[in-house]
Amino acid sequence: MKSFQVSTSSRNEFISITSKVTDKLNKIGIEEGVCTVYCPHTTGAITINESADPNVVRDMNRKLKELVPSNDSYKHREGNSDSHIKSSIIGNTVQIIVENGELQLGTWQGIFFCEFDGPRTRKVWVKVN
Ligand code: ZN
Repeated sequence: MKSFQVSTSSRNEFISITSKVTDKLNKIGIEEGVCTVYCPHTTGAITINESADPNVVRDMNRKLKELVPSNDSYKHREGNSDSHIKSSIIGNTVQIIVENGELQLGTWQGIFFCEFDGPRTRKVWVKVN
């Protein structure tokens, strides 16, 4: 099991972590299995989506902000209920099949850390079983 950190620079942001996950997978050195990528945060998330066109994650981020406004009749006193809601909508784990030591991502796919209450330094775990 390995982990790495992601430094985010704005409140809502999608950051590509594909190369960091690949680097950890190579260090783990398992050729076949399932790679779990997990973030232990309640206002962050992990997703797989298109990485070829950066506008795809920009559009996702904009639409999520529209669907889950930051100001509403939320009761949570910390003032970041929108961040918690978006974290649960996207989810904090993805799994990718590993064959011949490589993540079996599609041509257009990338792995993203989704920041919903930044800027912060976040932790991401990578485990292959
Ligand atoms: Zn909170």
